[in-house]
Amino acid sequence: MVLDLDESLIYGSETVLHRDADFQVGPYHVYRRPGLDAFLTGIANMYELAVWSSATSLYVNQVAAAIRPNDIGWRFVWSRDRCTPRMHEETRETVFLKDLKKVKRLGYALERILFVDDTPAKMARNYGNAIYVRPFEGDDDDNELALLLKYLQSISRERNFRGLEKRGWRSRALNDEP
Ligand SMILES: [Mg+2]
Repeated sequence: MVLDLDESLIYGSETVLHRDADFQVGPYHVYRRPGLDAFLTGIANMYELAVWSSATSLYVNQVAAAIRPNDIGWRFVWSRDRCTPRMHEETRETVFLKDLKKVKRLGYALERILFVDDTPAKMARNYGNAIYVRPFEGDDDDNELALLLKYLQSISRERNFRGLEKRGWRSRALNDEP
């Protein structure tokens, strides 16, 4: 399970939002997405966890260390230098792609890799492995991670994640509600 950080698990803001940040990394006030700790602890029972962010390594390493629950280890923590820079055809801006071939090289079958991200463009090469979350920007009422935990529990025994239709994951999680 490869996890994005910014807007997926946390929000790093240069200004203080409606409340004090949970922690600070350099100039950034960092807010945890509601339910983050329960989410990470919950999925760690079913998946090996790793972090891959397109931010710079100093920031990524510090955020990954700050949000890691005590008894959980990251399989790896990767940052921008592991991404593949590509010019976006319409915006002409550089997009940092996360190419799961690099994860595969660690010995994982592509069918068994899942990726959680808020930015589809970064997953252009492996959309079959991606679960997209709504971007988090500090909203205290956000419940995306609680839903995602339910969904990930429901599919953890699937043999081929790439063959799963994941676009409607949110409604599947809601339908499973007792
Ligand atoms: Mg992101």
